Amino acid sequence: MMEYLVILLDDTAPSYCAYTVPPRERRLISTEDLKAGITFALKENLRVQFVCPEYALPPEYRALMETVEHSRIQTADCAERGTEVAVFNRWDSLEGYPYAPETAYILRTGKEEFFRQYPQIAGILERVARLNVIITDIETFGEEDFSRYAAALRILSGSVLTLFLQGKRPQLNLLTDRLMLEEMNNCNAGWKSITLAPDGRFYICPAFYYENEPKCVGSLKTGLHIGDACLYRPDYAPICRRCDAYHCRRCIWQNKKTTLEVNIPSREQCVTAHIEREAARCLLDELHKHGLFANREEIKELSYLDPLDTMD
Ligand code: SF4
Repeated sequence: MMEYLVILLDDTAPSYCAYTVPPRERRLISTEDLKAGITFALKENLRVQFVCPEYALPPEYRALMETVEHSRIQTADCAERGTEVAVFNRWDSLEGYPYAPETAYILRTGKEEFFRQYPQIAGILERVARLNVIITDIETFGEEDFSRYAAALRILSGSVLTLFLQGKRPQLNLLTDRLMLEEMNNCNAGWKSITLAPDGRFYICPAFYYENEPKCVGSLKTGLHIGDACLYRPDYAPICRRCDAYHCRRCIWQNKKTTLEVNIPSREQCVTAHIEREAARCLLDELHKHGLFANREEIKELSYLDPLDTMD
């Protein structure tokens, strides 16, 4: 069942996930479409997330946005007080940033930058309620990168453990989400969320809007029409439905890009998620030794990193 409507207010609104926003001119959604999008959300009982451009929105847009309960996604550079989600695209912006306690932060990074800069993350975790790290080029991971990733997560896990032992509650998607989850909690694009773009059409997620040949799934005029809608659900994903990497992004767009199927993940997506799962498993073991997370069952050790290896 749909729960969220993401409204891209402008073609230049920032990416908050793995996709890249191509260079484009400003194109603000029309006030008519914004109004119709909000009405659609209210009728369908969807929670609204506005993805805001970097420039100041005209007063009539701000007034319309206030007619519905919503959350805002903005770049960290121009995040206003009360912004729910702020996005960093550069590591050098992290230091000295005036973090707000009510905001969750997203850091988008390529893998090479991640491997160079990840020790910075420990210092940031002390200052934010939550940090989501999105590695934007997961599909380029090779065997050596998997080893580097596992080593990086082991080091970060030590920092996260130290924070827990100091009585803090750090949240880093790569390590702590799996500690808390008992079922899949993925991006759920096309199943629990849908995107309204500035052209007045619906897309599975913003990434599909920014494709060279964008394929919409309906419009404000014609309604939402997702062909094969069940394919976006985890229980119709033959590999994912048997998996317990509950925190995995399970990025539908990356699936489509790498395997041409929305419900079949790439090996890179699965292996990185299982490296995170294994790091979370070891972290939970350590937390248990210190009497923390006692109500959480231990995470089972697995003999594989790619669930596809277990399929007949
Ligand atoms: S690790 Fe692979 S199989 Fe498991 S949820 Fe993620 S994409 Fe699906």
